[in-house]
Amino acid sequence: MKSNMEILDVGEVHVKRPSLMVTGGNGLVGSPIKCDIRTGSEFDLRNPHICDKLFQNNKPINVIHCAAKVGGLGGNMNLKGEFFYDNIMINTNVIESCRKYGIQKLVCFLSTCVFPDNIEYPLTEKKIHLGEPHTSNYPYAYAKRMADIQIRAYREQYNVNYVSVIPTNIYGPQDNFNLENGHVIPSLIHKCYLSKKNNTPFRIWGSGKPLREFIYSEDVAKLTEWVLENYNEEEPIILSTSEEVSIKDVVKLIVKHMDFKGEIIWEDDKPDGQFRKPSDNSKLMSYLPDFKFTSLDDGLKKTINWFVTNYESCRK
Ligand code: GDP
Repeated sequence: MKSNMEILDVGEVHVKRPSLMVTGGNGLVGSPIKCDIRTGSEFDLRNPHICDKLFQNNKPINVIHCAAKVGGLGGNMNLKGEFFYDNIMINTNVIESCRKYGIQKLVCFLSTCVFPDNIEYPLTEKKIHLGEPHTSNYPYAYAKRMADIQIRAYREQYNVNYVSVIPTNIYGPQDNFNLENGHVIPSLIHKCYLSKKNNTPFRIWGSGKPLREFIYSEDVAKLTEWVLENYNEEEPIILSTSEEVSIKDVVKLIVKHMDFKGEIIWEDDKPDGQFRKPSDNSKLMSYLPDFKFTSLDDGLKKTINWFVTNYESCRK
């Protein structure tokens, strides 16, 4: 990977090629990544012509592809068609544009949803395609799995150095704090904020027993920058703390940091989703044995401060 701008010889004119473009560059994962160009919703990457133009106009040397249609359990269950179409189109177009415009290194984001539901734990990079994903996020999971397939095919046929990463549940500033379709942490922060403000009960979906592995967005950004420079394998790499936390414990931390003293209601008619999806981070740790993850306590504190400060303008 070349970190400095490269000179592109276009006949008589010398144009500087930007070193790094991040798609979804203003979102949860993209915004902490240092880059020359960040693209957001102003470019509809589902459209192959728009995607092609973006690459043609900028010709970056490297790309980190974070742009996706994402959501939590609610979004995945309510918007199955959109989650399939948007993601399969975005990924297909972006990866093809990378090939067409000679991108040297692509880092593409997958998700832990890609893993089979019925599989022996822990989840490892070798198990992605060994069975069907969970019903709650089936179309999203298949759309993301196809990015892995496309990357493997392009590596083989076109000899390109494209890689992919599988982060577990990411949280942090710039997330989507939507109450219905957001991921659990941003949705619960928003709900707790409203309950405190309006003096109403704080309502949590499900039993609180499911377990998830959360990773702070700035840690993901640092790890992704490392992947861009150093990771060149065909097989994706899992980005995870491999520490499981129950939804109940997440709620306790949010209540503590938001100083919420009101009633908490567990809505057991709402879905729990997958019970757990523990991942094995040993590949990552074998490369970066000294990496220090942000604790959930610290990460939540920073995320809540950001949300409260940016309440008016944040996505919600
Ligand atoms: P998942 O990891 O893909 O299932 O995505 P989420 O980030 O949406 O986490 C879902 C887990 O959090 C499930 O066990 C839900 O029952 C639980 N949960 C509790 N309250 C909420 C909420 O308000 N929104 C979401 N998305 N999940 C919630």
